[in-house]
Amino acid sequence: MGFDVKITTRISILDLIAPHSCRGCGALGNIMCERCKKYNSKSILKMCARCKKPISSCCCKTPVYSAFYREGLMKDLVEEYKYHSIRAAASALAELLNLAIPEDFPSESDSYDVSIIPLPTIPKHIRERGFDHMLLIAKELSLIRKWKVEQALVRNKNTVQVGADEKTRKLQAASAYQISEKWLLHPQSTYLLLDDVWTTGASMEAAISVLKKAGATNIASAVILTPR
Ligand SMILES: [Zn+2]
Ligand SMILES: [Zn+2]
Repeated sequence: MGFDVKITTRISILDLIAPHSCRGCGALGNIMCERCKKYNSKSILKMCARCKKPISSCCCKTPVYSAFYREGLMKDLVEEYKYHSIRAAASALAELLNLAIPEDFPSESDSYDVSIIPLPTIPKHIRERGFDHMLLIAKELSLIRKWKVEQALVRNKNTVQVGADEKTRKLQAASAYQISEKWLLHPQSTYLLLDDVWTTGASMEAAISVLKKAGATNIASAVILTPR
């Protein structure tokens, strides 16, 4: 495996693999101590993933949960994981993502049968990294919450966002996904879409639309990072 072992951030590979020290301050115990959790997750975002309004004042009821801004330690963690293929960070990131999702999710009005759906990654990136980074996080989260993982979405071809301007990105994002042929909808289930980074929200919006068209009614989403 060709790791680039040059450490450019405060996180070392050992840090990522050692399960019980705080990524923020190094304190022994958890991957993030209570103090660092509070410090890093000042704003837990809960808005509508479709209309971007506060969830209390929208009628599409498709919340997106996120606990962290795309900066500092959290940004480093996600980038090390994706771009340096540090697979071992998946469980740490799943724990952090778990912080964003309310403990009582799904609420009484929803179905308790939850399926996690990772947003599918471009196959080329999966080949380059040697693993499917969101699928791995989804599997780790499923162990924490005892929810199942379903690969309900597949990527359409020609949907590469790199280098495109915002308008093009949005158009590409809108047609990025389709329902996997192997997938079966359970209308009573709650579907939780997962992604690592929320930029414009166009990818998540597209994924939600595809699921809605397929007949899903209880849909929520969670991302690790959002821009400030
Ligand atoms: Zn700490
Ligand atoms: Zn809405």
